[in-house]
Amino acid sequence: MKILTIIGARPQFIKAAVVSRAIGRCAGIEEKILHTGQHYDHNMSRIFFDDLGLPRPAWLLDCCSMQPEPMAEKIAQAVGNETFDCVLLYGDTNSTLAGALFAEQRRIPIAHVEAGLRSFNNAMAEEHNRIETDKRSKWLFCPTHLAVKNLQNENVAGNIYNVGDVMYDAALLFASVAEQKSSVLADLKLTSKQFYLATIHRAENTNNEVLMSVFSAFARIATPDLPIVLPLHPRTRNIIASSTELQAVSSQNPSLRITDPVNYLDMIMLEKHAKLILTDSGGVQKEAYFHKTPCVTIRNETEWVETVEAGWNVIAGTTADSICRAVGADFACQPISDYGTGDSANKIINILCQQKS
Ligand code: UDP
Repeated sequence: MKILTIIGARPQFIKAAVVSRAIGRCAGIEEKILHTGQHYDHNMSRIFFDDLGLPRPAWLLDCCSMQPEPMAEKIAQAVGNETFDCVLLYGDTNSTLAGALFAEQRRIPIAHVEAGLRSFNNAMAEEHNRIETDKRSKWLFCPTHLAVKNLQNENVAGNIYNVGDVMYDAALLFASVAEQKSSVLADLKLTSKQFYLATIHRAENTNNEVLMSVFSAFARIATPDLPIVLPLHPRTRNIIASSTELQAVSSQNPSLRITDPVNYLDMIMLEKHAKLILTDSGGVQKEAYFHKTPCVTIRNETEWVETVEAGWNVIAGTTADSICRAVGADFACQPISDYGTGDSANKIINILCQQKS
């Protein structure tokens, strides 16, 4: 079987790294990677290929800030007449849907990893990307039983599998490597459980109004004894740079420590040793649970509802008061039966191998 993996954004490099390892162990599959260039700078892209052993892409495109339709055209031009048995896609970015549109046009069956997630917020581009990709997929690899239910409710045409979460595979695989290799805690002079970790980057949160609330909350929460470490996404950094008000609010409290995005191994260490995580990231909400750290989600809803039901995650909304309140919430921290056992990548590859050789 010949697979074309299409990726372009940070979380996809992490997910693809574990699946590519499983492919590498399987004699019957050849994989070629196409990187759309949606995220292209060192901290958001290259570093993940280097650290996680992701094979070099056969094609590296220049599709930063492009919508899925023109991106699909660029993919078609790059791939030319080469044929594939499967296009392998991850998550919900513009690169995901671009890959699905390309595959549909070429009549190549699609495998979608992280299928079935829904926020039920149609204003999110990610929600559109997920639904449109799932509709076109032949193999729908779900991380949770709720994702399976969502797809059943939508009567999708493809085959639905609950394989667990490849991000859990990654968290298990790289946790001990991170302990050995990462020096981020010492570099940032952090003590375990005596700092907060924050990330903020979603399109709906990176407007001036929401960022003002979020940074006001961060300025109130951070103290010399419990600083906030915030590895800042380039999108958020650019918005802050364009507003004097945001620059002022984000620099008023020295205990809010803004850094460049960190590599995945450093991120694992920060997640594991933080007292609490504040985030609007999908992946980080779950990683908080994987590393047993409570999480406050700076959004009005989540796709990962089981983390909320089990008491690991509080949905805070985006006002300064609600974010500050959520940090003081009681976290029940019960076990979650979803996400599998760390062998999701193998399950995915075994299913693909059975279907076609
Ligand atoms: N991540 C990282 N370095 C950072 C911030 C995040 O390695 O500075 C990792 C994080 O551990 C998770 C993934 O990036 O695995 C999440 O990506 P992101 O928040 O960009 O996207 P989302 O999950 O919201 O789609």
